[in-house]
Amino acid sequence: MSTLQTVGVGYELSVTDVIEETPDAKSIVLRKPENSRDLFAYRPGQFLTVRIPSDRTGHVARSYSLSSTPHVDDQLKVTVKRTADGYGSNWLCDNVEPGNSLIVLPPSGRFTPTDFTNDFLLFAAGSGITPIISILKTTLLGSDRSVMLFYANRDRNSVIFHSELDEYAAKFPDRLTIRYWFDDVHGLPSQEGLAALASDHLSREVFVCGPVPFMDSVAESMRSAGVPPERHHQEVFVSISGDPFEAPRPIVDDNPASAVETVVHLDGESHRFEWASSNTLVDVLLDRGVDVPFSCRSGECGSCACTVISGKVVMENSDILDPSDVAEGYVLGCQARPVSGPIEIEF
Ligand SMILES: Cc1cc2nc3c(=O)[nH]c(=O)nc-3n(C[C@H](O)[C@H](O)[C@H](O)COP(=O)(O)OP(=O)(O)OC[C@H]3O[C@@H](n4cnc5c(N)ncnc54)[C@H](O)[C@@H]3O)c2cc1C
Repeated sequence: MSTLQTVGVGYELSVTDVIEETPDAKSIVLRKPENSRDLFAYRPGQFLTVRIPSDRTGHVARSYSLSSTPHVDDQLKVTVKRTADGYGSNWLCDNVEPGNSLIVLPPSGRFTPTDFTNDFLLFAAGSGITPIISILKTTLLGSDRSVMLFYANRDRNSVIFHSELDEYAAKFPDRLTIRYWFDDVHGLPSQEGLAALASDHLSREVFVCGPVPFMDSVAESMRSAGVPPERHHQEVFVSISGDPFEAPRPIVDDNPASAVETVVHLDGESHRFEWASSNTLVDVLLDRGVDVPFSCRSGECGSCACTVISGKVVMENSDILDPSDVAEGYVLGCQARPVSGPIEIEF
């Protein structure tokens, strides 16, 4: 039985297995600590953030989507694909062995279905399959809904989870359809082809994960096919530049005149306070002991997204939000500072 060790703001989890998925991708299986299973409960599509040692900077933080499925898998599994010349992915693939431990932050992220009452159209390319397979398996095993998966790779040898996906297709022939796409055989997927696929499944929830040019192409195709923006969800894989393992930043009280009356609704509770522009919303909430969702604290992962119901805030970095998120009033709590109020925010 493993118990939870905390290391700064991270948690130490034991590695129970390392699986070679393809020549350049490995899965790392981590044991959930017995005394803190709730902390490591997750929804399909969410990710862990791993602290990777570095002689140069002490450590770097990198996020990896969970390829395990909360519905059936007792342990946590992340799948790491080597990035050419990348530091973190190669360190993990070269160094991690069963019996080691890794320091991680609890699961986080918004790239997850709110429910399983609709059918799904899933698009993955390369390592983008990791959150997608978790959503796929949860749908098939935990609901009666159907899944269409379009999965693009450079070539057949690069397909992660190929045999597992084929087993699911054989087990659920009426509910799972997989269309594999190999760039070396078919060329790059065309926008017309992707739009035609979307047109056949217009009422479905669409989840997309892969390299940015692939996701841009899918997004354009979804727009031309008429998929409503609120049903189109995507996860951007970037390397975090901030340090989420750092202790929470102390609150700065150097501009009290800027303070704006604020109320934040989170997990059924309302928190009222004066919010000064010298602090981000996540820092203020952490300082007040509120269990606010966050991970990277640098505007790159989207875990702290919340909706501004009234008042006005500004953000330093909000590139991770798509236009539909901005149109719906989403902001990133770790980047938001008050402008005018009263401000009302909902997580
Ligand atoms: C929500 C989310 C989910 C993700 N899920 C997955 C997933 O499931 N699977 C997956 O494979 N990827 C995933 N990613 C991407 C992953 O987090 C990394 O971005 C990816 O693995 C590339 O990281 P890298 O360090 O190898 O490459 P890079 O970030 O390109 O590495 C180069 C960087 O490392 C720095 N560097 C080089 N050497 C050192 C050193 N010695 N010390 C410190 N820094 C150094 C360089 O200055 C440069 O900034 C996800 C990302 C996000 C945000």
